[in-house]
Amino acid sequence: MKTPGKLAGFLSRVRWFNLGVLTITPAIGMYGLRTTPLRPQTLLWSILYYVISMLGITAGYHRLWSHRSYNASRPLQYLLALMGASAVQGSVFWWARGHRSHHRYTDTPLDPYNAQRGLLYSHIGWMLIKPTVKPGPADISDLRKNEVVQWQHRWYFAIIPVVGYGLPTVVAGLGWGDWWGGFYYAAMWRITFVHHSTFCINSIAHYFGDSPFDDRKSARDHFFSALLTMGEGYHNFHHQFPMDYRNAVKWYQFDPTKWFIATCGALGLASHLRVFPENEINKGELAMRLKKLKKVQDAIQWPVQVGDLPVVSWDSFQQEAAERPLVIVSGFIHDVGDFADQHPGGRSLVLSRIGKDATAAFCGGVYEHSNAAHNLLSMMRVGVLHGGVEHVRTISPGEKLRIVERMG
Ligand SMILES: [Zn+2]
Ligand SMILES: [Zn+2]
Repeated sequence: MKTPGKLAGFLSRVRWFNLGVLTITPAIGMYGLRTTPLRPQTLLWSILYYVISMLGITAGYHRLWSHRSYNASRPLQYLLALMGASAVQGSVFWWARGHRSHHRYTDTPLDPYNAQRGLLYSHIGWMLIKPTVKPGPADISDLRKNEVVQWQHRWYFAIIPVVGYGLPTVVAGLGWGDWWGGFYYAAMWRITFVHHSTFCINSIAHYFGDSPFDDRKSARDHFFSALLTMGEGYHNFHHQFPMDYRNAVKWYQFDPTKWFIATCGALGLASHLRVFPENEINKGELAMRLKKLKKVQDAIQWPVQVGDLPVVSWDSFQQEAAERPLVIVSGFIHDVGDFADQHPGGRSLVLSRIGKDATAAFCGGVYEHSNAAHNLLSMMRVGVLHGGVEHVRTISPGEKLRIVERMG
């Protein structure tokens, strides 16, 4: 009798309303696909209305209300509240609260769309099944005080039939007589696409791509997810700098939501567009680049350092040089035995310096050696001449910009 109990428990956690919206909408769309041809005007209108709905979510629900990344005039707020409602994703108040928890508790059980639970869960699963752990608390006092947010929340279920289903149908119907096309394509299919485009921000934007600013969390930057999400796919940047009205900082990156907000700013509908100090953005980016370079550096062999080499007197050096080919350059004793035959200037030039200080000859007296030659020579170090290194350069050219990890 265990299984029925488990099943009943599972069924009690299903969010039936969400399941209904997310399955019936595309099912009706599929029926329309078989019964109603897609007319070019309706296709264009569906795409346009898709962009309108997406901007309602990205510029409104997300960047304005979840993150306060700019100030919007009241007319723009009402417009964004209606545009966002047409995406049929719940009210701003509900959406922004969950999103703030997502940022505060990213990748933990308190994150409502925790990417650590897999791609399917973060994409859609979290909306279909009630979580066993409630999303972590987030401060929403500003949203409680926001008149437009409260208005939209109060009237949400009256607004969505109008802007989600009615308006796209009526425009196609009155505009070019395609009532059913408007309903199936501009309403049902457009909503389905808007749903999954937005869900991609929680799923693939936490899965595919690079971490140019910080790699401790799952958020990633990827052009493809930006393409699907009106620019929200530069998600690694966004999680680092959530109050920045931009998700893409480079001019060539695809962020139409940023362009929309900037246009609203230019038209006087938006103000106080927030940007994080460029210096700090560059700092984060450099740290990640150095981290990658450090991996390359760690795979390279480096010369033995001064402190790890034996200190040898001039007399001992002379004695040892009688038995093996040792040459001094810049205070270091080098064993050139394996190298003499490969010396581009010839074997005899090297052997003529055995037991001698060849610094002057090596550093320009005979030939001004390249950085590569200095680097290679440093790999032949076997000792330090007593009283020698203090006066000379101890860092080979290749080590000058070495990355050192410091523990904080
Ligand atoms: Zn995220
Ligand atoms: Zn966000």
